[in-house]
Amino acid sequence: MLSEHLKAHAVTHAPTPQTASDQARALHAAHPAIDLHADTLMWTRWLGYDLHSSHEPPLWRSVFGGHVDLPRMRQGGLGAQFFSLVSLPVAKGIRGLARVVHEQIDALGDAIDRQPSALRLARTAADVDACARDGAIAALLGIEGAHALEGDLDQVDVFARRGVRYLGLLHFSANEAGHPAYGHGRRDSQGLTPWGFDLVRRCEAAGVIVDLSHINRAGFLDACAVATRPPIVSHTGVVGAFEHWRNIDDAQLRAVADKGGVVGVIFDRRYLGGDGLEPVVKHLRHILDVVGEDTPALGSDWDGMIIPTSGLADPRGLPSLTDALLQAGVSERTIAKLLRENALRVLAS
Ligand SMILES: [Zn+2]
Repeated sequence: MLSEHLKAHAVTHAPTPQTASDQARALHAAHPAIDLHADTLMWTRWLGYDLHSSHEPPLWRSVFGGHVDLPRMRQGGLGAQFFSLVSLPVAKGIRGLARVVHEQIDALGDAIDRQPSALRLARTAADVDACARDGAIAALLGIEGAHALEGDLDQVDVFARRGVRYLGLLHFSANEAGHPAYGHGRRDSQGLTPWGFDLVRRCEAAGVIVDLSHINRAGFLDACAVATRPPIVSHTGVVGAFEHWRNIDDAQLRAVADKGGVVGVIFDRRYLGGDGLEPVVKHLRHILDVVGEDTPALGSDWDGMIIPTSGLADPRGLPSLTDALLQAGVSERTIAKLLRENALRVLAS
């Protein structure tokens, strides 16, 4: 099993940035990409994974992770990374989940303290722009799964004060807010709970963006219906490109787009439904076709126990994705939006 994964990883090596065109690299220089979801801090907290060193070749234990670090972000024209904060998605009522999130924020803080001119915590669109101006990488924070709040809405404000900018309502099991698209406690007919509706309001009041990855369709549409600020789907595929329980359909796409939100396309080949850059282009194009250029974004899910699609094993592959989009006839203006400007707009809203 392990050797099979190692083999799979070996053939998914990202092309070096030199294989991308000058046009693609110029686009990334003018619009440094923002990725909406990577679980890197989970590795930092577990294994002391160092954001500042280049992990090439990848560590044997990092078959499903070890994708993101600052040197490879710079090489790939990735200027800002939303680091997701993961706690075990187990049944309700477990204590200590919030602490796990705090420890991942602390781990980022340590990395920033070691090289404050290279890495900064960003909370706002202005912060992200300032990082680009000053040559620093912007780190943003999002929580994956409201179970981390341990049933306490006041925790939204506590985490917002620490810099958390989005909260994913669900992960892989039912929690106080609702039910997952897949996993323990799945109930497809049930939408948001009353607590879940309160949570959406609480997030909006605190300036925390609601992330609708992993939530079931009923809860997803409930959250969009009551949203007064743009929601996001930080990492997902779309059913119109590949039918899978993890992916969202056109009605869900429209519901997010109607509220001014963005949808980050995931790089996991299981949800893309194929390998290579073409499936990623196909998912992005479907979003463009259905809801237009203001909605697509990047949501890699790097370091999230995924096997990335070939060519996007780490951030160095991003300029080649940009080339694939150009070859598919996507305009520079639209690429700038999906790389950066759409995510910035939601951050600023
Ligand atoms: Zn996830």
